Amino acid sequence: MKKFKKVSIVIPIYNEKDTLKDLVKAVQSAPLPKGMSREIILVDDYSLDGTRDILKKLKKKYKIFYHRKNKGKGAALRTGFKKVTGDIVIIQDADLEYDPKEYMKLLDPILENKADVVYGSRFSGGGPHRVLLFWHSWGNRFLTTVSNMFTNLNLTDMETCYKVFTREVLKKVLPDLKSDRFGFEPEFTARIAKARFRIFEIGISYYGRTYDEGKKISWKDGVAAFWHIIRFNLFK
Ligand code: UDP
Ligand code: MG
Repeated sequence: MKKFKKVSIVIPIYNEKDTLKDLVKAVQSAPLPKGMSREIILVDDYSLDGTRDILKKLKKKYKIFYHRKNKGKGAALRTGFKKVTGDIVIIQDADLEYDPKEYMKLLDPILENKADVVYGSRFSGGGPHRVLLFWHSWGNRFLTTVSNMFTNLNLTDMETCYKVFTREVLKKVLPDLKSDRFGFEPEFTARIAKARFRIFEIGISYYGRTYDEGKKISWKDGVAAFWHIIRFNLFK
């Protein structure tokens, strides 16, 4: 337990003016284990909708970085990962689809020294789930299955935003990470599987949003993810 003193929450942000303020507030006030401090790293992926004005008004205590062009979630995460000083990393999307109140639950298997990586699964129990987008969730399950076939893991939600891991894991995978866009999810999964880290999964709630509400991932990203699974599991 003593080993882990600080958690770094890395937030990739692209055109999230409607949710960003509330999200940062939720991340800031989310309960953490006793004695654990937090570092919040915000990476703006060249938002053009006013998100940057919101970021500029945020307190100095946050680490904020700006991309000079839109590069994708994977690239934004890499920018943030390079600035991590915490012992554990939590990936947090900038929308409100996932609930920071669940950090405690996600951190637990790592603090208990049972896991190196924890995925929050939208498909295995957990709290409330918004009922929405059948084909999207079917696509997620399909991609998870294909990924599992290559990694020989039995994950239920490879594409989840909630990926929590130790700094050791970050140190090992960061030099190899290449995916700029949503290929990050299958790539990260392939790399931690190859490195044989201890992976746990825990059910989380999910407040999915519609495309009108700002969702950006599309069926094209699904097709791309399929190729990323093959590429990162069979090649480098
Ligand atoms: N995002 C980003 N750059 C992009 C697209 C998305 O940094 O080019 C961020 C976005 O703001 C959000 C996260 O990546 O915080 C996931 O995006 P989204 O919610 O649209 O995808 P999904 O929840 O469907 O995975
Ligand atoms: Mg999202």
